[in-house]
Amino acid sequence: MKVDVVLGLQWGDEGKGKIVDSLAESYDIVARFQGGPNAGHTLVINGEKTVLHTIPSGIFRANCTNLIGNGVVIDPVILMAEITKLEHAGIPVKERLIIAKRANIILPSHKLLDAASEHSKGKSKIGSTLKGIGPTYMDKTGRNGLRIGDILGKDFKEKYDTLKNKHLSLLKSYDFELPEIAEQEASWFEAINQLKQYKLTESAYYINEQLHSGKKILAEGAQGSMLDIDFGTYPFVTSSNTITAAACTGLGIPPSAIGEVIGITKAYCTRVGGGPFPSELLNETGEKLRKEGSEFGATTGRPRRCGWIDLPALQYTCMLNGVTQLVVTKLDVLNSFEEFGVCTDYEISGEKTQQIPFDLVKEEVKPVFQYLKSWGQLKDEQSVPQEMSAYFRLLEKHLNAPVKWASVGAGRQQLIHF
Ligand code: IMP
Ligand code: MG
Repeated sequence: MKVDVVLGLQWGDEGKGKIVDSLAESYDIVARFQGGPNAGHTLVINGEKTVLHTIPSGIFRANCTNLIGNGVVIDPVILMAEITKLEHAGIPVKERLIIAKRANIILPSHKLLDAASEHSKGKSKIGSTLKGIGPTYMDKTGRNGLRIGDILGKDFKEKYDTLKNKHLSLLKSYDFELPEIAEQEASWFEAINQLKQYKLTESAYYINEQLHSGKKILAEGAQGSMLDIDFGTYPFVTSSNTITAAACTGLGIPPSAIGEVIGITKAYCTRVGGGPFPSELLNETGEKLRKEGSEFGATTGRPRRCGWIDLPALQYTCMLNGVTQLVVTKLDVLNSFEEFGVCTDYEISGEKTQQIPFDLVKEEVKPVFQYLKSWGQLKDEQSVPQEMSAYFRLLEKHLNAPVKWASVGAGRQQLIHF
């Protein structure tokens, strides 16, 4: 058996939650491999909306074990709040959830560092979700981090104090007013204690055993490929690798175990936070996309920036990920448009190109748009109008992978499989 990977090909918010929940029906394990509670995966089940930040989107499926992999960074307070909410809704989380001992932990002082760092950047701020993601990954690579397995040790409090004090002295170098964190610390330790009741494992052994015994595994990405720390629009990116390769390091599986790579794109494009966005529409059309698509962040509530789909960016992320199947989401948002744009090329200094330049931040990029006729209101949610079909063929031609799923609404049923 192989591990299939599902991930976002744009700047996040491609609709991963819903797609993973649907795909999860035919998998035994769903595993998150990177990112943290900066993610907001929205699922609508029987009309009820849930936003997951840390827990994999297979948690609603009785057939699925859900693994939070070693590549994820965990805020214990956010994770426990998520668990409690699900348990109240009758989901047996204890049975369905496994947490990697090697996953790094977000401390309250990591969030302060995130805020101080953003504050110091002034106008050029990243637009971070301020969940402490960047500083936690910095401590991981700096070899200072605390990991989930550490919470079981007798010296955990000592380790915590050492790291917190390091953060406090770092914070002194910022021109930033420090809030009191005693209350946050109390809830943090309470959550840490509660987490001890859940399955904390050496997850690389677990996942490889499952793989060898023939179990079907789905690795669930967070954020999007254009936010990848190496290949995204640096420095306006997140602090983890978000591409297929990260499923190997974030779960402990060999590259040879990767099977299908399912890449998700919206029928248009959005971005939340700062940074380049060549096909952005700073006009009424962009406003209309935001309104029709309810484009407000699931984690921060911020309005998302909107624009037409960007094929050069998608070609790049399909290449980086080795995408073998495409999923197109939020097609229904285009119902009420007469026509919609597709950015086919970038124009840089008068030259057309389909390559992403080294510094998309500095480069002046003019998007070249082609316009397609939209399909109007959908007659029923399983039929594909001719115009929509034409759009899929265009995407397939440019991206070199077949469109396998099309999402035409937030509900589980509003999904077409080809
Ligand atoms: P951070 O990872 O919270 O520090 O945020 C860095 C950048 O990535 C900001 O522009 C965020 O808005 C963006 N970002 C982080 N996580 C997500 C996500 O799950 N969806 C969309 N954008 C995200
Ligand atoms: Mg999201």
